Amino acid sequence: MERPFDSKVKSEDELLNLQLEGLKWTVKHAYSGSWAYRKKLDEAKVKPEDIRTLDDLKRLPFTTTKDLQEGYPFPLLSVPLRDVIRIHASSGTTGKRKVICYTRKDVEDWADMFARCYAYAGCTKEDRIQIAVGYGVWTAGWGFQNGCERFGAMAIPIGPGNIDMQCQFLQDFESTVLCCTASMGLLMAEEIDKRGLRGKIKLKKIIFGSERSSDAMRKKISELSGVPYDELYDIPGMTELYGPGTGLDCKYHRGIHYWADYYILEILDPETLEPVKPGEVGEMVVTTLRKEAVPLIRYRTRDLTRIIPEKCPCGSLMPMHDRILGRSDDMFIFRGVNIYPSHIDEILSKIKEVGSEYQIHLERKEDGKDYMTIKVERAQDVRSSPEMDSLIIKKIGEDIKNQIMVSCDIEIVDYGSLPRSERKTKRVFDKRDLN
Ligand code: ZN
Repeated sequence: MERPFDSKVKSEDELLNLQLEGLKWTVKHAYSGSWAYRKKLDEAKVKPEDIRTLDDLKRLPFTTTKDLQEGYPFPLLSVPLRDVIRIHASSGTTGKRKVICYTRKDVEDWADMFARCYAYAGCTKEDRIQIAVGYGVWTAGWGFQNGCERFGAMAIPIGPGNIDMQCQFLQDFESTVLCCTASMGLLMAEEIDKRGLRGKIKLKKIIFGSERSSDAMRKKISELSGVPYDELYDIPGMTELYGPGTGLDCKYHRGIHYWADYYILEILDPETLEPVKPGEVGEMVVTTLRKEAVPLIRYRTRDLTRIIPEKCPCGSLMPMHDRILGRSDDMFIFRGVNIYPSHIDEILSKIKEVGSEYQIHLERKEDGKDYMTIKVERAQDVRSSPEMDSLIIKKIGEDIKNQIMVSCDIEIVDYGSLPRSERKTKRVFDKRDLN
C-alpha cells in the first residue's frame, strides 16, 4: 500500500543501511557540536570513527534526564544558537523542565513524520481535522498543526476544553477527525451522546495524543461517539524526541508502527541495560538518526514497552512496538523476575469479576524466601461467596503463573475497601529487608 510521506526505503536491508549512516552522522555531529556529548564519549573512550556497524551502538554511553537537567536551559545543544528557530519544553513534572531546541530541518522532519501519522490513520486531503490539544510551549498543538498542514488536510486549531465550541465546530465545519487526549475523547463522546449529535456529525476518526487509552475507555468512546472502534488511533511521543508523531498504530491496530528511518529503538532491561529477548518488556532507549539541534544518543526514556515482532498486514516496513505499559521506575524484583505493576494491572483488568483497585504486598519469611500477596477488590456487582472467591483466586493465580512465571497468594477483598487517591495510588508495599 502506497501512503504519502511513507519511508522511502524499500527493504529491511535498505532500512538498516540508512540507520547505520544516520548513526555515524549523529555521533560525529554530537561529538563535534556539543561539549557535553564530547565529554561523555571521551569518558566512554569512543570516537566517531569507531562506529562502523549498527552493533557498535552498544559501545555508546547512555543519555539520561539528568543530562538534560544539567544542561538547562539549552541542554545537549549541538548546533550554534543562531541555527535554532524554535524551542519547546515539557510540562516538567519531575525537577526542571526539559527544554529542547529545534533547527529548521528538525521542525521540517517532525512535520514529515507527523504527516506520515495522518496517512497511516487513513486520512486524506479532504479531511477536516479538529485539533483539540494544547497549543503553547508544549509540543502537542504545534506537532498536530504542522503535521496537518504538511499533510494537506484542513486544520481546525481549537485547542483543548471549550466543549460548546467543540460541538459547534463538529457541526458547522463538519470535522471528520478529532485529535485530543483520551480523557478529552471520553468527555466529547459523552457530549455527542447527550446532545443527540451521533449520526448528525461527520466525525469518523479520533487520534489520541499524549495519554494512554485503555481498551475499556476506547470501547466507551466508540459506543457514545459513533466513531468505529477501529478508527481510534494512538500517537505516542515525547518532547525529547521531537514531540508527538514519532509513530502510530495503523487501521489493523497490531501495534504502534514507529519511524525507524528517523530513530533507532532499543528495548533494554532497566537493571542490566542489556537487550531483552524479542517481545519481552523493557525500557525504550532511543537514538536519533538525523536530529540536528539536540540529537539523542541512547536516551533512556524510562517508558516500558515491548517490540511486536510480527509483520503487520498493512505491509509497512516500519517495525512496531506495543503501547506504553508503564515506567521503569515502578519495577520491582521478585524471586529473580522483573515485575511491573502495569503487568499485574493488565492481567487483573481482563478478569471481569474483580475491580480496578489492587495492592501488591511483598515480604520475606523465616525460610528466607520472598512471598507476594495481591489484594484485589471484588467487582461492584459481584456477590461475595467463598465458592466464587476461590474460583476468582484460582483464575488470577493461573494467569499470573502463566504470564509472569511466578506464584503468589491472592486475597479478594470487598468492593470499596482499598484506599482511593486523587493523585497516584500506591500499589506496591515492599516489606522485605533488602540489604
Ligand atoms: Zn500496519
